[in-house]
Amino acid sequence: MKRAFNFNAGPAALPLSVLQKAQEQFVDFNGAGMSIMEMSHRSAAYEQVNNETEALVRKLLQVPDNYKVLFMQGGASTQFAMLPMNYLTAGKQAAYVDTGAWAGKAIKEAELIGNTVIAASSASDQYMKMPALDQLSLDSNTAYLHLTSNETIGGTQFKTFPNTGNVPLIVDMSSDILSRPLQIEQYGMIYAGAQKNLGPSGVTLVIVREDLVAASNKEIPTMFRYSTHAKSNSLYNTPPSYSVYMMKLVLEWIDEMGGVDKLAAYNEHKTNLIYNVIDNSDGYYRGCADIDSRSRMNITFRMANEELEKQFVKESEQAGFVGLKGHRDVGGLRASTYNAVPTASCEALAQFMVDFQKRNN
Ligand SMILES: *Cc1c(COP(=O)(O)O)cnc(C)c1O
Repeated sequence: MKRAFNFNAGPAALPLSVLQKAQEQFVDFNGAGMSIMEMSHRSAAYEQVNNETEALVRKLLQVPDNYKVLFMQGGASTQFAMLPMNYLTAGKQAAYVDTGAWAGKAIKEAELIGNTVIAASSASDQYMKMPALDQLSLDSNTAYLHLTSNETIGGTQFKTFPNTGNVPLIVDMSSDILSRPLQIEQYGMIYAGAQKNLGPSGVTLVIVREDLVAASNKEIPTMFRYSTHAKSNSLYNTPPSYSVYMMKLVLEWIDEMGGVDKLAAYNEHKTNLIYNVIDNSDGYYRGCADIDSRSRMNITFRMANEELEKQFVKESEQAGFVGLKGHRDVGGLRASTYNAVPTASCEALAQFMVDFQKRNN
């Protein structure tokens, strides 16, 4: 079997060793005579998977004891709605940083619920650079400040996060969670759909401080309250058990790789291979994002015209590359280089780009 050079934006590449481990345990999970999918989520075996997954998240991100680790469903998109449903209550406002496509979707949901203000925006830079956040002024009735750590479509990423004082900082980290170290104490909540950096789709990781759990709105349906999931150890209703199990295997892989510090260096090395080709191409390839805001997860670039970009995608596919076409809303080209994308794939892409330029210059 030949594995593709997989640069998909999400769902995205998983470590081969994780897939092989899952394959080994697929039909018979640890001698249970059944797969994990066929098992009760109330069984001791599944509870152990649930607890070990949580323990790995806590270990890898050094999550303090006053934070809950939750496994939820509905993707990051459901979090966009749950946040204002829980915290944007009467008399409050929610502040958002508008950095592009995903931030925009989160803002839309908040606007459906209550008073939503834009605390900072990079719209005037066509979202190609992250806005400075050192001069934010937040009203005292601000329920939270929301931002998107990595804009998956535009290819921009925050390098640092603001100090928001008493206002909880809530961050959508769907496309860069566990790709670098974090100071969890800085955040009221972080959340991430799993399908980019953590595993398959179907589960959303939420790390939330206990005071925010306690402040969940009691007047919304049970499933939409953070307190419901916190109280029941993410087992209020049937969880996406197979996705949680797969996340556990991915977290074990990250642990074996040496944790998030090692991954940050690894990701930087991988993306430099490709950014260097862009920067040394005499403008043949043009990086979309401002250099200081460049993402270590999604490399977006353009070529002289759409025809050439089409040819690039076509020839790349013939050469075994997958997922290099930019998002349909913005066009251009994009290479998503999440944690599990191997160095060899990035080396191959860098070489392909150099060769393509030589052939078609
Ligand atoms: C992919 C993505 C989402 C949407 O995630 P779903 O799990 O599909 O709802 C939200 N935010 C960011 C930053 C993303 O990359």
